This record gives sequence, C-alpha cells and structure tokens, in this order.
Amino acid sequence: MKYIRFIDQNNIEQIGILNNNIIELLDGDLLDNPTLTGQTCSIDSIKAYLPPVTPPNLLAIGKNYAAHAAEFGTPLPKEPLIFIKSATSITAHNQPIQKPQQAPDFIDYEAELAIVIGKKAKNINPNQVPDHIFGYTCANDVTARDCQKNDGQWARAKSFDTFCPIGPVVETELDTKKLTVRSILNGNIMQDGNTADMVFPVNELVSYISKHMTLLPGTVILTGTPDGIGFARDPQVLMQNGDKITIEIEGIGKLVNYVENE
Ligand code: MG
Repeated sequence: MKYIRFIDQNNIEQIGILNNNIIELLDGDLLDNPTLTGQTCSIDSIKAYLPPVTPPNLLAIGKNYAAHAAEFGTPLPKEPLIFIKSATSITAHNQPIQKPQQAPDFIDYEAELAIVIGKKAKNINPNQVPDHIFGYTCANDVTARDCQKNDGQWARAKSFDTFCPIGPVVETELDTKKLTVRSILNGNIMQDGNTADMVFPVNELVSYISKHMTLLPGTVILTGTPDGIGFARDPQVLMQNGDKITIEIEGIGKLVNYVENE
C-alpha cells in the first residue's frame, strides 16, 4: 500500500492510503496501525505534501554502488559506510531545495531508495529485517560537494535545511531486489541505476546498522546512490536556481523538487 501525509484544503494534517489518485483517510499514527475513517479525497485537492514520516534519526550509506564509488575515485568500503544527515534536512515532495548562502556553488543530487523502519530493531540478523521495515520511499541525498571535499566528513555537506527531500509516498509492499533508481534534472536522465547493483542490499544494511545503534520506529535510512552524480561529470552539472530535480524509483513513484536560492 502507498501511504501519504499531507495538508488538506482546510489546513489540517492528514494521513491516508493512496489508490489511483483517491486518498482513503486514516486516523492515528501511520506506524501504529491507523484505522480508516471512511472518508476519501482526491490527490488533486492536496494543499501541500508533508514528508511521509518524521524520523527520530536520518541515516545514510555512502558508496553502496560500485560504479558510484569509482566515479568518486575511492575504493569500495569493506563494510557498510554509515553517516548521519540532520533530521532538519528533511523536506517534502514539491517543496523547494534551497541553495544555502554558506555554500551555494556545488549543490548536487543523489537518487536513493530510502528504508522506513516500522518496528524497533537492535542486534537483528538479515532474515529478521523484513519484520522491522514499514516500507520504502524515494529520497534525494542533496550534497554540497565543496563542503564534502573540504571537511573530511560529511555532516555539514549533507545536512543543510531542505537537503533531504523524501516521499511522496511510503510503499509497504515492495521487493527491493531489482528496482530502477533514477534522477532526472530538467527532463534529462542523470542517474539510471538499479538496486540489484547495491554492494550491501537492504537486509544486510539494516542488520549491520542495528548491531551498532538502535533503530527506532520511523527511522529513515538512505541506501546509497548509483553513478551519474553531477559533480563527477565532465563538464560538471550542478543544480541551479529554478532547476527541477526528480527522483524516480520503480514501484514507488516520483519525488519532485525545485531548486531556489536561500
Ligand atoms: Mg548518498
């Protein structure tokens, strides 16, 4: 099922199940068995999309596709490379990505499949992982490449406000073994990868992370980006004011954002 969170015409926050452009409204917490209200609305009546969840932690994996590690000029990690983005970097479908005043010149996109944890996970094995996953959404791991290069670690580069669009839906029934993951900048396909090429697939990633930190319900984990980032192109392609960036993942949908100056 595709779950969605949004602001309706009456400025009320709603959650629902999306079915062919009709939303069946729900009562309660998305992660805790919400109940149908019996009411519906059209997707066209949405006033504003919200991030489908508000994660207690926002984790990400670096270099989880061999071709991307190669374009970055770095070897593949022997174990999953975990980093953290600020939870305040999260934004929604159709909301702007702001080029920060502090670092406006090297803003890049990264298309990523994102995992949403449903049930607390600590020290679990790969075969237990499916029981702890709520679903999957599209994410854009927006990065200020100059900060990433200069800092020696990635917290600042990846954590500016609006640097993590997620959504528009969480799909709860998805086999992640072989899905197309694309980024499309102003109509041009920039990344065209497949989850089959992940170095560490979903179950291994979640198991590994759960052995290092507790994964609370609602935690979002970005699983890494395929090759084709703008910074590694010749000539480089960096996001500019007015650009439209779309992250498209097979079986989930399209996450669209426009770039603007802060
Ligand atoms: Mg990334």
